[in-house]
Amino acid sequence: MDCLFCKIIAGEIPSTKIYEDEYVYVFKDINPIAPIHYLLVPKIHIADANGITPENSHYIAKVFEVAAKIAEEENIPSYKIINNCGKDAGQTVFHIHFHLISGKRFKEHKNADI
Ligand code: 5GP
Ligand code: ZN
Repeated sequence: MDCLFCKIIAGEIPSTKIYEDEYVYVFKDINPIAPIHYLLVPKIHIADANGITPENSHYIAKVFEVAAKIAEEENIPSYKIINNCGKDAGQTVFHIHFHLISGKRFKEHKNADI
């Protein structure tokens, strides 16, 4: 499958890995918008949030478990987790992923520009 994040998970395209287990791969965003900007990617090809089902939703739960683990280990007290679903929401890579961003003060929640 011609998917950038499947290739990154497979190691076919290099990335700065932060964490990996059976379910989740985490690496630095190539174009960070904050001092900490990680991409948390389930190791299953789901195109976007609309592709989450009872059969695969445990991968998504794992993403949030891993976020909490990274936050604790890296001493990140506050952070945002963002998922863009669909082109008009800003999704550019169609393998579901979650941005973990931190290290600067963000505007209030639900601000479209973060
Ligand atoms: P989206 O816009 O789909 O929510 O997020 C895609 C993210 O992937 C963007 O923040 C973009 O900077 C990042 N990205 C795109 N291509 C690469 C790549 O080859 N390597 C890494 N590390 N990040 C990438
Ligand atoms: Zn993929």
